[in-house]
Amino acid sequence: MKQVQVTAVGENSFVDVDQPQVGRQDVLIKIKANGICGSDTFYTSIGGIPPRQGHTPLGHEAAGIVADIGSDVDDVSIGDHVVINPMAAEDGIIGNGGVQGALSDYVNLINAKANRNFRIIPKNIPW
Ligand SMILES: [Zn+2]
Repeated sequence: MKQVQVTAVGENSFVDVDQPQVGRQDVLIKIKANGICGSDTFYTSIGGIPPRQGHTPLGHEAAGIVADIGSDVDDVSIGDHVVINPMAAEDGIIGNGGVQGALSDYVNLINAKANRNFRIIPKNIPW
């Protein structure tokens, strides 16, 4: 899948990365919308965030559709529309120095719980 990363000072690139796979308690989100934050422009200006300078995934203002769920997940369904909480990710803050960024085709929410890692939103809200 494609992921936007800060790849050098003042440079963002589309990078090919492996699509994340859901674990038993994970929720995989197909990203449909993502805001560009002032933090993103700052991270780009400094070449990314340690320890991922030169390969910092961007994107932390995201919404999408649940594409897959782990076998132990029971509080959301495939096809639900959700807003992601980037702060509650176990692999680092999404798009703020974590392993994942939401300017990607997919984000995998590890050990996800509704109203902690994401919030379900009405399907009639346009992207
Ligand atoms: Zn932001």
